[in-house]
Amino acid sequence: MGSHTSHTSSGWRCLSVGVVGGGIGGMSVAISLRRAGHNVTIYERNDFAGEVGASVSCAANGTRWLHEWGVDVAKGDPVVLRKLINRDWKTGEPVSVYDLEDYEQRWGYVYNMFHRQYMHAMLKDCALQDEGPGNPAKLMVNHPCKGIDLDTGTIYFDNGKTAQHDLVVGADGIGSVVRKIIGLTPDKRPAPSSCLHANVLTEDAVKLGLVDYSRDSALQYWGGQEGKWDKIVLSPCNGGKLLSYYCFFPREKGDYVNQTWRGEDRPVEELLAPFPELDPQVKSHLAIGIEIRPWRLWVQCVSPSLRTGERVIKPEERTALTTSFDPA
Ligand SMILES: Cc1cc2nc3c(=O)[nH]c(=O)nc-3n(C[C@H](O)[C@H](O)[C@H](O)COP(=O)(O)OP(=O)(O)OC[C@H]3O[C@@H](n4cnc5c(N)ncnc54)[C@H](O)[C@@H]3O)c2cc1C
Repeated sequence: MGSHTSHTSSGWRCLSVGVVGGGIGGMSVAISLRRAGHNVTIYERNDFAGEVGASVSCAANGTRWLHEWGVDVAKGDPVVLRKLINRDWKTGEPVSVYDLEDYEQRWGYVYNMFHRQYMHAMLKDCALQDEGPGNPAKLMVNHPCKGIDLDTGTIYFDNGKTAQHDLVVGADGIGSVVRKIIGLTPDKRPAPSSCLHANVLTEDAVKLGLVDYSRDSALQYWGGQEGKWDKIVLSPCNGGKLLSYYCFFPREKGDYVNQTWRGEDRPVEELLAPFPELDPQVKSHLAIGIEIRPWRLWVQCVSPSLRTGERVIKPEERTALTTSFDPA
């Protein structure tokens, strides 16, 4: 290993890095390593076709990195959150309103709400484009990683190809192959609650005379009190043009453990069924929901070696790190 590296008198060397997975995490790693002067190749199993969007929040810590890396945040068309509004389950009346007007002043950066696809495209552009410091990262799609030789830094792909790098970073999501290869197999079981996600076009809601929730620039939620699982979370994205709804309910009312995010859309009746007493205003939004998909929820134990802080990388794992932004 180390055949591609260039040394300096300070001991710093430019690494050839292979990143497995080209999601939000992989693109972020690529930007960060590119800015630090390393040469990055991203290997993605898919070609990104067929992705369905939903909102992803990016609080001050994340926004700070976007600025430090010189990411064109406007490309992500975020909504800057101004409030957190908790509404009564049945009437929709605000129970509490938490004002975020001083958020940027307190934390240094704003609280962005992105559409996942837009966020991904924004990061991908920044990682791959010629402009900006560092060498542009290379992206190899249709490269599913199936194995890594940790001694030589060689990655093996399902398509029969191989690649060798000084460092391999696993950014291949919640079902990470890289994590398994380095011996981290987290204990994972289905959560006691289920979640269906739906998108509502603000324009469609307004045309039907429904409440325009985009005006609040707020993360809004109904329920979640009294220890119940029933909860609706609304986050606007795409500059307010899209309302992204997360609808949580007990798993007994609908079990999606065996269905993937990339599966077929679910019917709107299935989305409404668990919520007979929900505020009619938000319910009429859900009734025009599109792209209704299960968001599978897991309870996952953190690997002891990561949790205790004793060590993050085992000696035999020296060529591979893993990263995942996925909280599920
Ligand atoms: C509806 C929904 C809402 C979400 N909301 C939030 C949120 O608000 N906040 C939040 O932090 N997270 C949220 N998440 C989770 C979100 O998806 C993750 O935070 C984020 O996408 C994780 O990024 P990642 O790059 O770690 O993983 P992923 O986005 O899963 O990307 C992993 C990539 O690796 C690729 N890959 C996998 N295996 C291989 C392999 N063997 N070889 C090569 N490539 C491989 C995959 O194709 C994928 O492109 C949400 C997820 C969903 C589905």
